[in-house]
Amino acid sequence: MTDFLKRILIAGALGFCISLIILGGVARAEESPRIDHTLYWVFPADGTITDSFGTRGGHHKGIDIAGEEGSPIYSVDHGTVLKSYYSSTYGHVVFVKHENGFETVYAHLGKRLVNEGESIDKAQVVGVMGNTGRSTGTHLHFEIHQGKWNLTKELAIDPYLVFGNGEVGQSVFAKVHDPYQVVEVSKDIINEPGVVQHVIKNGETLWSISQAYKVTVNEIKHLNGLHSTTIVTGNSLKIPANQQR
Ligand SMILES: [Zn+2]
Repeated sequence: MTDFLKRILIAGALGFCISLIILGGVARAEESPRIDHTLYWVFPADGTITDSFGTRGGHHKGIDIAGEEGSPIYSVDHGTVLKSYYSSTYGHVVFVKHENGFETVYAHLGKRLVNEGESIDKAQVVGVMGNTGRSTGTHLHFEIHQGKWNLTKELAIDPYLVFGNGEVGQSVFAKVHDPYQVVEVSKDIINEPGVVQHVIKNGETLWSISQAYKVTVNEIKHLNGLHSTTIVTGNSLKIPANQQR
């Protein structure tokens, strides 16, 4: 008889635990903004991906897109401008809060074109690409937060989760949900005036490449929106064409 009672108690306890787990899961899912709300977002900039999420020892909480100085930066969706100000690290920066609770951040802008509190449309220009704040080279630093931005950026998610997996060196296109549409990209890059493409070979460094082309390391870093001197074999680098050669 005691055995029977024990079994009932154990079964009851197990059932209670399972229901707690299920209820807990449901409650969490309701609290956090839903990623499927991002299905219709559009990519914020034209250019080339120069750094991904989670690099620099996990401290890089966004992606970097290097493009033309002054090119338009678009809001991924409609929303409200939470902040539009100059930060010593982010430079000219715009924070947008979206209907689903997500927040997006557009940093290092050359100019901001929206004000705090303003309601903005999807694909509205929030500013132009620049090189302000802690930045070495013209690029957009773009972050997505699944909830409120905070200093530790613990709610930041990988933008590749929203826009699909990309990689460093890949061309990207603004105002579309799939930013990686390949349309004669390589031809455009090669024809860019004043720029030569160099595919990085094993053992090469920024220094050795700069020597080979008679340009400076900083010129190469600037043109490619690089934050460090780390380069990856097989990726292609833009090299400023040296006038004397
Ligand atoms: Zn960045």
